[in-house]
Amino acid sequence: MSDKGFKNSLKRQMLKMTLIPLTLMTVAIVAVSVSIVRKSITDQIRKELINDADLVAFIFDQYYVGDFRLVETENGEVEIYKGEQRLNGENTLMAKFSKMLNIEVSIFYEDTRILTTLSDAEGNSAMGTKVATVVKNDVLDTGQPVFYDNVIVYNTKSFAYYKPFTGADGSIMGMIGVCRSGEDVKHHIIRYILPVIGICIVVAVFFGIIMVRFNKKLAERIFKMDRYMNKLSNGEFDSEMPRELLQEDDEIKSLANDGKKMARALKNLVEFDALTELNNRRSADKRLEEIRVKMVEMGMKYCVCIADIDFFKKVNDTYGHEMGDEVLRKVAGKLKKGMVGKGFAARWGGEEFLLIFDNRELDIAKRELSIIMDDIRTIYVPDTDRQITMSFGLTAMIPGESTDEALSRADANLYEAKEGGRNQIVCK
Ligand code: GH3
Ligand code: MG
Ligand code: MG
Repeated sequence: MSDKGFKNSLKRQMLKMTLIPLTLMTVAIVAVSVSIVRKSITDQIRKELINDADLVAFIFDQYYVGDFRLVETENGEVEIYKGEQRLNGENTLMAKFSKMLNIEVSIFYEDTRILTTLSDAEGNSAMGTKVATVVKNDVLDTGQPVFYDNVIVYNTKSFAYYKPFTGADGSIMGMIGVCRSGEDVKHHIIRYILPVIGICIVVAVFFGIIMVRFNKKLAERIFKMDRYMNKLSNGEFDSEMPRELLQEDDEIKSLANDGKKMARALKNLVEFDALTELNNRRSADKRLEEIRVKMVEMGMKYCVCIADIDFFKKVNDTYGHEMGDEVLRKVAGKLKKGMVGKGFAARWGGEEFLLIFDNRELDIAKRELSIIMDDIRTIYVPDTDRQITMSFGLTAMIPGESTDEALSRADANLYEAKEGGRNQIVCK
């Protein structure tokens, strides 16, 4: 199906109308699903990290009984104790937690890691490094535990929970920090989200195919309607209405039926004479041109005749124009009937008619024309004894000659018939 080079053809518009909302809807569903899954996983991690931090604090309390306290050594370094246990560097217990719970654990003195399971890719421990400023501000300065779903922990984006602890005097001394790498969680989310995206895409493609096929069918019907109307506007009144346009009981079917009516009305208007309902001169010219070609190409024989009502002016003058019209209709009716199965009759203009005898020798055509002439003689001006007669100029068309040449000969014969007393056929 060609779209006749429209910048924005219906087919393209319908495709856009289908695919854009479908794509947007799929993207929206995927985005909402990702956000829901991410939120639920983040909530889950938050709960887990809070529990883990509480567990670490509890075990520490059970294991190392007593308060957190600071001791300054002789060489000026600060050491942190829990009860009697010096914590600096003592991470055996922490390593166990880390492995068991799949988290990293750090104990901070103020904002510095004095005990941690964190290390970088090369295995360098994060011992002695500081927490991100935002955590220091949020946790140490306010004394409140805080959960982060996206914070940099030792150069890695992580989920983390920090819980402050106090010394014997009740002042904030440091924090317990537990975290899980964001990368880990991302893989987790992707594992949940991939099937959702897959299902969304399959459903979108399924509906997309159905909608595109439906729209394509509709666009094709409209395209065919457009092509039919195009032929109509080029004068092809006999072109057939595509069957698909009449199949569905919809507006296109109604349009197609109107199109057919329009074609009929236009054909009548353009090819037929309104008064006599015979073919008009325009369609007679068309027919003559077709005949000229057929004679040359297929060797067919034709005879042409110009017929003229005798003293028709007198009919008008004596009985009025209306009566003249009535006589014209009667004459046309006889000519049409007389030419059935023989050829073609047209109103050539005024009270002149053109008859074309298909595939006949001149003598046969003349014999048939005599019968028509006799029939014309049976016409009387209604309610009067005025008989109507006609004169006929008949000739055989010669292959290769122009239609004008044949018509001039017929005209000359008609003139001779008039001159010879009318009501007769001159045939040469
Ligand atoms: P001739 O035998 O020599 O053909 O004589 P005529 O009177 O038939 O010829 P003429 O050409 O003098 O007159 C033709 C008349 O036909 C004149 C015109 O008013 C009339 N006529 C042409 N068309 C119509 C029509 O549509 N209706 C009516 N009523 N008359 C028409
Ligand atoms: Mg005339
Ligand atoms: Mg006349």
